[in-house]
Amino acid sequence: MYAHPGVTTAPEMPVPERMCAWVLGDPGALHHTTKPTPVPRRGEVLVRIDAVAICATDLDVIAEGPPALIEGGPPFNRNFTPGHEYMGTVAALGPGVDEFAIGDRVTVEIHAGCGQCKRCRMGMYTSCLNYGLNYGDRDKGHRANGFTTDGGFADYAVNNINTLIRIDDAMSDAEATLVVTAGTSMYGLTELGGLIAGEGVAITGPGPIGLLGVAVAKALGASPVILTGTRDARLAVGRDLGADHTVNVRERDPVEAVAAITDGHGVDYVVECSGAPGAIDQAGRMVNRGGRICLAAFPHDPDLIDVAHLVRNNIYIYGIRGEGRSATHRAHAFMAQKRFDATRIHTHSFAMDELETALRYARERVEDAIKVVVHNREPAG
Ligand SMILES: [Zn+2]
Ligand SMILES: [Zn+2]
Repeated sequence: MYAHPGVTTAPEMPVPERMCAWVLGDPGALHHTTKPTPVPRRGEVLVRIDAVAICATDLDVIAEGPPALIEGGPPFNRNFTPGHEYMGTVAALGPGVDEFAIGDRVTVEIHAGCGQCKRCRMGMYTSCLNYGLNYGDRDKGHRANGFTTDGGFADYAVNNINTLIRIDDAMSDAEATLVVTAGTSMYGLTELGGLIAGEGVAITGPGPIGLLGVAVAKALGASPVILTGTRDARLAVGRDLGADHTVNVRERDPVEAVAAITDGHGVDYVVECSGAPGAIDQAGRMVNRGGRICLAAFPHDPDLIDVAHLVRNNIYIYGIRGEGRSATHRAHAFMAQKRFDATRIHTHSFAMDELETALRYARERVEDAIKVVVHNREPAG
């Protein structure tokens, strides 16, 4: 049986010595196998994975590698398990842990920074200066599950207690997997630093972060909230989540549309979630003087921007990475208070052993898939 010095388990939740896990081989090749159930260290718990949402970044990691970094190199053929948007149940406690109890339902943040670098000390643990240094002589204890350490396409994963959020039974497993996505949207909006109640926000790109960005902006009182994109079905989901206006950029110039909606003034904030060529330059023309732009997407190629326009108009640009500064806790609070229904973006569910099909649905957007959730257990209710 699973027994390790200082690690607490409970008879009602027996933990096996080995577990099922999906492991990344060559680029694009996942296989289902078993490996030893991981062991929590000080400040960590073992989480039984109940559900995992698939993220576009998982597709990038599996096919191309970055931003995953295992033992300083690409994640291929290193017995690495991807998957980072998961939730589950605490199954074992590392030495000294009394912040959580076995049986607690939790959802997780991705990043536990090293806790000792300058950025971690500022609360910017998603920008940890010791990213990926969790092995060998330079083990700084950094974890980004599904990127630098094993993730959630498995039966169990180890999490630092700082990455856990307790959830109550009113929140379904699938909804709980979406907390970290809403947390990323929240991080973007709060890093912009505004009191956004009553201020105009444009969100470009109706992917999961953009759609939940609409929901979070609305919950924070932004007005108007404008969503731009190319797919009418997704724009309709955006309206369900609170967008006051949606603009299909295939039919209408988004800069002109934002100007028309705001009486020519422009919005105070843009959250760029599309990664499309030219999107950052357009964002600079959607914001008013002194406005702020948050970059939340990864464009594939370098992009051309009229920098002089940004300078002349005192426009600020912020890059954000992931879900820093406890934004996930704030997003969870909104969701627990039913301020928006994140499950509007959950379109498909599969069992964990159907992961390859689930990934294909996410990658090819089969049946207009937005968020595909993979379950280890029958979803309750
Ligand atoms: Zn993600
Ligand atoms: Zn750090």
